[in-house]
Amino acid sequence: MLAPEFVPGIGDRGAAEFYTIATLGSHSALQILKGAHDEGFRTLAIASRETERLYRSFAFVDEVIAIRRYEDFMATVPQLEQRKSIIVPHGSFVAYLSLEEHQKMKVPYFGNKAILAWEASRELQRQWLSRAGLRLPRQFKTGSEIDRPVIVKLYGAQGGKGYMFLRDAADFEERAGLLAREHYILQEYIIGVPLYIHYFYSPLTGKLEIMSMDRRYETNVDSLGRIPAAAQGRMNVDPSYVVVGNSPLSLRESMLAEAYHMGEEVVRVSQEICPPKGLFGAFCIETIITPDTQFYIMEISARIVAGTNLFIDGSPYSYLNYSEPMSTGRRIAREIKHALLTDSIDRVLDDATPL
Ligand code: AMP
Ligand code: AMP
Repeated sequence: MLAPEFVPGIGDRGAAEFYTIATLGSHSALQILKGAHDEGFRTLAIASRETERLYRSFAFVDEVIAIRRYEDFMATVPQLEQRKSIIVPHGSFVAYLSLEEHQKMKVPYFGNKAILAWEASRELQRQWLSRAGLRLPRQFKTGSEIDRPVIVKLYGAQGGKGYMFLRDAADFEERAGLLAREHYILQEYIIGVPLYIHYFYSPLTGKLEIMSMDRRYETNVDSLGRIPAAAQGRMNVDPSYVVVGNSPLSLRESMLAEAYHMGEEVVRVSQEICPPKGLFGAFCIETIITPDTQFYIMEISARIVAGTNLFIDGSPYSYLNYSEPMSTGRRIAREIKHALLTDSIDRVLDDATPL
């Protein structure tokens, strides 16, 4: 860790005490703000009237601004600017703010907003991941092409809502009516363990870290084993993929090198598609691992994911690098602090929003 004496005239807590880390009160905000506090920053939660009391109840949250709906976030921008704030985005930002609002928001922003467009479009995301050499499930353009079980993914669906499992082309024909007015993709259904790998890439050191990993618990697909298969046949149950929570998992160590390599390749290609900074900070590759231990990639999230909430006190993997509790939220704050102390804050912020 860099010593505060790198910055002349700044006290024990270093440059951090002059800045406020701000985020929306939801998703992984507690982790982000606790990490920011532990690294010496002031902290601010933008909460709703319903969640305001919760965020105020934590000693590490210095300030709460309450808004009526999360979609009203843009109205708080002048207040954020007054406070020398740096925004740390999480999953709720993409859920509640449009791409245009992201671009318009001029508060210093941890991350590279140019990546958002590549992440938001399923086609661009697929190009990015295949250029990185990752193994992707097959996709079918029309129902008649389907030659194996598929998952129907609705565009813009959040948390797996509305996804549908189809056995074959005939199943598609039968249910196509339900999908008539929807935008969707038909993707090969991979049977295996869903593993979400949480990474952090430091633009300051050029090093990638595996912070932690989780598997999601989804209802009802993860519970179907509680009903015997023979009975399911007569019950007409359909699997659904709505996320309820997350549980920890440690990966076979023999598979860890590939997990690390996948992260490196994703970062490398991101620097070609969104030059020069590419993807940095926290991100997550969502995989399914098959019985022959192959990783299939479902998706990438270009920011902190909620599965990291399992590891507010650090994970077995972050312990290997830090020997102290290091959540992804705290890792983000530490990167911002190091950038401030070495006068390189522009390297960890979006180019359109300098400090
Ligand atoms: P929320 O603020 O809880 O509405 O969540 C914002 C976005 O993050 C939504 O798209 C959720 O589906 C997603 N999300 C929230 N919690 C989790 C979780 N534990 N695991 C995966 N995704 C989540
Ligand atoms: P996603 O919206 O890509 O995060 O997917 C939500 C959930 O749908 C995942 O956690 C999986 O349980 C399931 N899922 C997504 N893609 C596939 C796939 N190709 N094969 C099997 N299950 C999938």
